Amino acid sequence: MSIKIENHKYDVLVVGAGGAGLNAAQVASQHVKTAVISEVYPTRSHTISAQGGIAAALGNLEPDNWHWHMFDTVKGSDYLCDQDSAEYMCRMAPEMIIALEHLGLPFNRTAEGKIAQRPFGGHTAEYGKRPVKRACYVADRTGHAMLQTLYEKSVAQGTEFYSEFYALELIKNGDAVVGVLALDLQNGGLHMFHAKAVIFATGGNCRIYETNSNAHINTGDGLALAMRAGFSWCDAESFQFHPTGVYTAGNLITEGVRGEGGILLNGKGERFMEKYAPTIKDLAPRDIVSRSMQKEILDGNGAGPDKDHILLKIDHIGKEAILEKLPGIHELSLVFAGVDCIKDPIPVVPTAHYQNGGIPTNYLGQVVTMKGGKEVDVPGFFAAGECAANSVHGANRLGTNSLLDLVVFGRTTGEQAAQYAKENGFTELPENAGSEGVALLNKFANGTGKNTFGPLYTKLTKTMQKNVGVFRTEELMTTARKDLIELESLIEDYTVADKSSVYNLDLVEALELNNMILVARAATEGALARKESRGGHYRDDYPDRDDKNFLKHTDITSNGKDIKVDYRAVRLKPLTVESFEPKARVY
Ligand SMILES: Cc1cc2nc3c(=O)[nH]c(=O)nc-3n(C[C@H](O)[C@H](O)[C@H](O)COP(=O)(O)OP(=O)(O)OC[C@H]3O[C@@H](n4cnc5c(N)ncnc54)[C@H](O)[C@@H]3O)c2cc1C
Repeated sequence: MSIKIENHKYDVLVVGAGGAGLNAAQVASQHVKTAVISEVYPTRSHTISAQGGIAAALGNLEPDNWHWHMFDTVKGSDYLCDQDSAEYMCRMAPEMIIALEHLGLPFNRTAEGKIAQRPFGGHTAEYGKRPVKRACYVADRTGHAMLQTLYEKSVAQGTEFYSEFYALELIKNGDAVVGVLALDLQNGGLHMFHAKAVIFATGGNCRIYETNSNAHINTGDGLALAMRAGFSWCDAESFQFHPTGVYTAGNLITEGVRGEGGILLNGKGERFMEKYAPTIKDLAPRDIVSRSMQKEILDGNGAGPDKDHILLKIDHIGKEAILEKLPGIHELSLVFAGVDCIKDPIPVVPTAHYQNGGIPTNYLGQVVTMKGGKEVDVPGFFAAGECAANSVHGANRLGTNSLLDLVVFGRTTGEQAAQYAKENGFTELPENAGSEGVALLNKFANGTGKNTFGPLYTKLTKTMQKNVGVFRTEELMTTARKDLIELESLIEDYTVADKSSVYNLDLVEALELNNMILVARAATEGALARKESRGGHYRDDYPDRDDKNFLKHTDITSNGKDIKVDYRAVRLKPLTVESFEPKARVY
């Protein structure tokens, strides 16, 4: 592997081209020289597969307002979300939808031509009284429409793209973040991106679970790179298990199906959610529905010969409605479950879907770190989207709040980073810039060990699925810890069969696996330390929420070998409900 490194200089460098990265980029490039690097071509980022919608209290079909939206977000998060960020996001939501519409996003419409809205899990009117139609959508392909729109806008705005570039190391000089070392997948070349400000928008990490709804690239690279650079991962133990993944495959069946009237049935044909959430039933928040489904299966009430799944029935809304509002789901069920949902129910199981935490930031997306017991801003470092924790989702994200999070905090980080770049010069690269990334790359490229990707990845995902899943206990998670420590040593004795430098995906898999082992270990340590149940983190041995001891964020760091679990205060104070100053709007 060559060690010649090509150099680039940008005011703002965005890592990741999903909804968060592209919105940050299109905003930043209106003001300063901006580039995006992305492991995949931008429109292949996971945002493309978002289905159900994006939340905003527009009140187009029935009364709604952002206070109710914020209430749902805080309650849905099981009170672990930072309320300044939640207020900011919910207040900004209607304005963001209009901004997206003006960029050309083709939302579905009502008969009068207004943006259409549908109900979604946990979205209610009048502080929990009844479900409300709050999710704006483009059929069941909302993310697809959003990503294309934002990509077009970024290109039009002059953003420079480095597609199929894989970030290897986040570079710091002193306290400041100053750049990123990346590998060009097309030819194996190394590139140093020196930047005044870096925005991480690297997405999620649910590929660490055996059954998951995520794209192959969702391996938590951004978190691993940030942790190796000394930053923390907030609420690492907090994952969302989406109730309706296709049985055996894991692919997502949007909550929009239940929003349109779909219901869950157990093997006896009973609508069991009436028992667990009598008011909002099948549209209860995801953590509640997933646990209820799992409980039905464990109690022997599952469907099918092995009684190991649940049925999602939608045929009663009619062929026309299914083909108009849920065409993607119709196709997906045919391909992955072999079921025509116009006639038959879809077999489903909970699937690992979303990481609720991320790299900790303030409510504008500036990364924060602990220094002398105090939270301080990291110069030149911002994060948005699923890899970030601002933290609007706390211990459980509401459906359609992620796409909203991407655009709201994509915009603030784009603005903040551009402003930062205008006000500050370049901080020099340190002398050894990139040496860690190069060493890591060489280690895997030249390794001649016994182990390869397949068996190690299988071991990783199986242990996470079984031991750090929907139901967790000390005993199960201690087994996961043991397995992960073993994996940490197995990956030291590894070989990459492909020795070429052209699209060496064998090598990329090794680097990703290395990141996933760190990410899984951090998640497990966080989960072991949180001796309570909250949101998606449910412990059979501590079934209650314990606000006295655990109304705080987990803050995990790693020195490369050991994992350290610490805590940070939850920002329980809203921004100021009365005199809202949208400070983020610097332009
Ligand atoms: C199937 C599915 C359906 C969903 N539906 C909805 C929905 O209807 N509504 C909703 O609100 N949310 C939904 N979500 C959640 C939401 O779509 C995601 O949380 C969100 O799209 C993540 O966006 P992002 O911009 O943070 O990252 P992503 O879109 O995941 O993009 C990550 C980017 O980071 C880049 N990257 C990663 N690692 C590296 C590296 N090492 N080097 C360079 N680049 C790197 C990738 O190339 C990619 O461009 C859904 C999620 C899934 C999986």
